[in-house]
Formats: sequence, structure tokens, C-alpha cells
Amino acid sequence: MTIQSKSTRTAEGHVAPPGTFAGFRTKDAPQDEDLYKCVHCGFCLSACPTYLETGLEAESPRGRIALMKAVREGRLEITKQVLGHWDMCLQCRACEVACPSGVPYGRLMEGTRAEVAAHIKRPLTERMGRAVGYRGVLANPGQLRMAGRAVRLYQRTPLRVIARGTGLLKILPGGLDHLDRTMPHIGNKFFVADGRVIPAIGARRARVAMLAGCVMTLMHSPALEAATRVLARNGVEVVLTAGQGCCGALNTHAGERESAREMARRNIDSFLAASPDAIIVASAGCGSTMKEYGDLLHSDTGYGEKAEKASKLTRDIHEFLASLPLIPPRAGASFESIKKAGTPATAPLRVTYQDACHLVSAQRIKNAPRDLLRAIPGVELVEMPESAICCGSAGTYSITQKEMSQRLGRRKAQNVLSVQPDVVATGNPGCALQLENYLRDLTAKDKTARKPQVRYVVELLDEAYLSEEETLYAQQAGGQDQ
Ligand code: SF4
Ligand code: SF4
Repeated sequence: MTIQSKSTRTAEGHVAPPGTFAGFRTKDAPQDEDLYKCVHCGFCLSACPTYLETGLEAESPRGRIALMKAVREGRLEITKQVLGHWDMCLQCRACEVACPSGVPYGRLMEGTRAEVAAHIKRPLTERMGRAVGYRGVLANPGQLRMAGRAVRLYQRTPLRVIARGTGLLKILPGGLDHLDRTMPHIGNKFFVADGRVIPAIGARRARVAMLAGCVMTLMHSPALEAATRVLARNGVEVVLTAGQGCCGALNTHAGERESAREMARRNIDSFLAASPDAIIVASAGCGSTMKEYGDLLHSDTGYGEKAEKASKLTRDIHEFLASLPLIPPRAGASFESIKKAGTPATAPLRVTYQDACHLVSAQRIKNAPRDLLRAIPGVELVEMPESAICCGSAGTYSITQKEMSQRLGRRKAQNVLSVQPDVVATGNPGCALQLENYLRDLTAKDKTARKPQVRYVVELLDEAYLSEEETLYAQQAGGQDQ
């Protein structure tokens, strides 16, 4: 990493020596009214996963805020160490929930990363990765699908065997070896938002636009299909507006604010053109970002108002279904998919729920997913310890901060296994991938352990509705035979 070569002067007149950087200067920089809200009480420490793992003040919310203040006031340069402490933050926002002073930590860290992105020159491979990933593939749904096809080809042809066998993945930069081991299977069919409309079943209760997103469209398209069926089954017409794309969450968290703004503008145009009653999001991280489009574009004269409107219309799918309210499935599901996947589904099915950080902390949605699970006949909800502690996925964190991500992934998997569920349900693709990886790891090491299946809440609901239809169909067919 290189730091810019000119000396810098902060608003207070502190001067950082040449070769260093001090002070915040961009329009995205953390605002003083947010920064100086922190009174250093320390109530947030026990909520912070990186503090729990390390016990270090510099890896706590309070420590990171102290570093921001020191840089802001020109008392400290952004050194590699400072950057390391900020980079270690998962942006899980558990500290926001614990903070009695209302410090908007997520906004502070996003602003800090935007400052860093504007002033600090990262290594060439990292810069290339950012340009291709954040400004190329994520910003362009066509490129994203092309990348998905390339990975699928790699996974299903001898290419993977050759790459692993020759040790090539270990030699190449960018953590390809780790990526190869943790990358999920790319599905046969991608979920494409192409303008189709899925009609409501029965009387129409609402018309919504739904975000397809990025990662989910390639890796978890069955969950998105399930989401549309569950909405339709609840009397909701779903419009998959063409022209939408990635929500920009990964860009925002990485300090890539300009490309995130571009993505937000495109989504706002696409969704508002459908005049929906709500914009539905089935991924916690995306929902949280879209609810903050108003903040992201507040100074954009052309989009400020529209962004505010889109944010107000955005609803997480669990929150929306629970508030409709949900039409509960009438029959217990047979949960055939769970049995097929190798987990003997008990009666009732033991389900534990993993709180996605961007649902429970950023959106403060804790009860809705649990209420939906409890509404499924034949499901017994069991709470795991530390359900709201981050699983270590956190967007690209599992690639950029491998060691901490692994520690948190194992911690989460141990907590899941401690309640011996058949299924662990969640509402976020990153959590689903991380849970899958670390549950597989831990159960492979312990032959007596049974690996629970990982499912989205909406997939379990969908399966219950499908069972209900099958039961009804069988009853009708039986009635006709008599
Ligand atoms: S972020 Fe909030 S809880 Fe943490 S030290 Fe500052 S004021 Fe206290
Ligand atoms: S966002 Fe999460 S990891 Fe970062 S300081 Fe807050 S609690 Fe810790």
C-alpha cells in the first residue's frame, strides 16, 4: 500500500508529514455529528464479534471510532496498522444495537472506507480486483451471468481437477485456493429479472416489485423462485422489473460509493416505473442497503427524492409477509427436500434460526422470520446460542479477512450444532454460504455429528404450501374415485 506523497492539512490546521495521510476530506467522510456522539462508554464491546475473538480494544467499535477521531483531528496517520483495524470490521452493526448513545456506526465505517478508497493506494492486485469486481461484474448483470457461466464450467469440467492437482491455485495471488474450496456449486439455472409478472393467487392484496440481486441469482435461484411463489400464494402480484441489477451493498461497504450510486439509480428507475406498493428484498444485506438509498443519494438533485421514496417502499420479505399478515400453511410439510438431502427429517422438524446481521442489527428485524417459521405446521423452532453474532461471511470479508472469517464461521457452526437441528434457516445468501461451508467442515471432522441442512425461511414456507396443495389434490382425487 502506498500513501500519497504530499503533506496534508486538516480543517484544524494539523499538518501530516509528507508520505502520510491525515484528516478527512471527501464528501462521503464521516460527519462530526456522528463521530462525536461516541462517549467511549464501552457498552458496545461485548456485542462486537472481532472484540469477542481478540479481546483487543483496537478491534472493538470504540477503538475503531477512536482511530477515526484521531485521523480526523490530524493526530494520527492512516498507517497499515490503522487500516488493518478498520478492515477487520465486519460492518455487522451489532454495536449500533448495543449503543445507548445512538452512534450510527455503519454510516461512520462506510464513510471511513470511502475516505480510504479515495486517498490510499492499495496493492495492484487489490486495485485490479476492485475494478473488475465492484465496477465491472457487480455493476453489470450480463457480465455477472458470464462470470457465473465461467465458474460453472470450471466446476464441472476437468479444469478444476487440473487446477487443484497442479497446485496452481496455491501459486496464483488473490486467495484462489480458499475461494475454490468455499465457492458454492453454481446452479444450472440463473434467476433473471426480465420483466415477467407473477400473478397473485386468489384476491390480490398487493402489487410488489422484487429485487433479484447478484449472488443469489447465480447460486440460490431456487430460493428466489420460492420467494415469488410464497408471495403469490399470499395474494401478492410480483413484478420482476427488467433493468434492475445488484443493489450496490458490497460496493457501499467497500467504500466504492460512486459505483454504488450508479447501481442505486438504475434500480430506483426500474422499481419505481412499476408503481409498486412495496419493493421486496429476500436478502438481508440488500434490503438494508436499499433502505438507505435515501442517504446514499441525498445530495443528488436528480435522484434525492426518488431515492427517499424507494427507501420508504423497501421491505424485507419476512417483514412484509408477517405484516400482510401471512396466510399460514394449513398442512404440515413433508419436507421431502430435507430428506432427499440426507437429513432424516424428524417430526416435528427441528429448525434453528440464524439472525443475519443486516436483518437483526441494521434493519432491527428479529421476530418476523421467527413468526413465519412458527406458522409452519410441523416445525419446532429452537434457539441457538449467539444467534445474532456475525457468522463471519460479511460480503467479501470471507475472502479479504480469511482468518477472522474462519474463526467466526466455526464459532457459528458450533453454536448451530449445539442445538442439534435438522435445519438452520436464514435470510441472507452470505450467511447461507458460510453456514454450509463450516457445518460441512465441522461435521466432516466429527463422524458422529449430523449435518443440518441450510435453508432460507421462504424455502421452508414454500415447501409447506406445496405440501398443502399436494394434500388437497390427493383429497380431491380420492373424492372423485369414490
Ligand atoms: S459506540 Fe456507543 S456504546 Fe460504543 S463506546 Fe461509543 S457511545 Fe459507547
Ligand atoms: S460493525 Fe460489527 S465488527 Fe464492526 S465494530 Fe461494530 S460490532 Fe464490531
